Amino acid sequence: PSRTAEVKLDDEAGRQHWFRISCRTLADEGGANGSRKPANSNIVGNQGAVAVLTDITHEKAIQKRNAEFVSSVSHEMKTPLASVRAYVELLADGDAEDEATREEFLGVIHSQTERLQRLIDNLLNLSRIEAGVVNVNKAPRALNELLEEAVNLLQPAAAHKRITLSTDLSPLYLGVLADRDTMSQAAINLISNALKYTPEGGRVAVRSRSADDSVVFEVQDTGVGLSPEDKLKVFEKFYRVKKDQQMASGTGLGLPLVKHIIEDVHGGRIEIDSEVGAGSTFRV
Ligand code: ADP
Repeated sequence: PSRTAEVKLDDEAGRQHWFRISCRTLADEGGANGSRKPANSNIVGNQGAVAVLTDITHEKAIQKRNAEFVSSVSHEMKTPLASVRAYVELLADGDAEDEATREEFLGVIHSQTERLQRLIDNLLNLSRIEAGVVNVNKAPRALNELLEEAVNLLQPAAAHKRITLSTDLSPLYLGVLADRDTMSQAAINLISNALKYTPEGGRVAVRSRSADDSVVFEVQDTGVGLSPEDKLKVFEKFYRVKKDQQMASGTGLGLPLVKHIIEDVHGGRIEIDSEVGAGSTFRV
């Protein structure tokens, strides 16, 4: 008979490892002349057992992450859905007595469905890129051009919030082997975050330069900044800094997408310099 079990063991450094253990007793098979049995053995029946330990730490971590992911997605979807449902019921029950109230209810339904749409779009983007089904078309491109396009796209949003959005781009041609769509998306997400998490009247600067054998661009803001713990967590899916949630709507999927685009699609690196209250710099 065989048995399997999963156990958690700590190594000397205190790290946890998961193992799947399969145990099997070794049957005494005897044979025609009992040749498998040591001559002088008087043991009858089982001769011992073999245990095989397989390290499944990685598997366990993925399982846990998937479960957390599903639970976060469901949670994120429940809130807008509940509110759409509540307002539809109010309308259906005739609780909106006048045109103005009806319009207010419809406004809430509209904004909540938009929120759902945004969440689903972001999720699809992320999973398509993660699954590698997005057409990545890497070719030599001018980094400055890409950044300028992103800045121009977001200039109206900056003006709306009275934030000065400026560029300080290298006078040199910075050629990068990049996929246009995803790289633009990464730049847009970083600049739009800088605008979202910077109070009115602040400044956001987009810079580029060449450094040794690499090309660098950064987005610097005078916004709310990040604590050392939050700096480590903002690249996790759905992570949003609690105290800043009221500043802007969001899904917590923007930065995980950026990290994926920069590191996995383009083999680059992304890092954050930040101090609470003093602003942040996201450097690629
Ligand atoms: P969101 O949709 O919430 O903006 P992101 O993944 O883009 O999701 O960002 C995750 C969290 O990181 C944000 O909710 C915010 O708390 C924090 N964050 C991102 N960019 C900045 C920034 N430039 N300054 C301060 N905090 C930021």
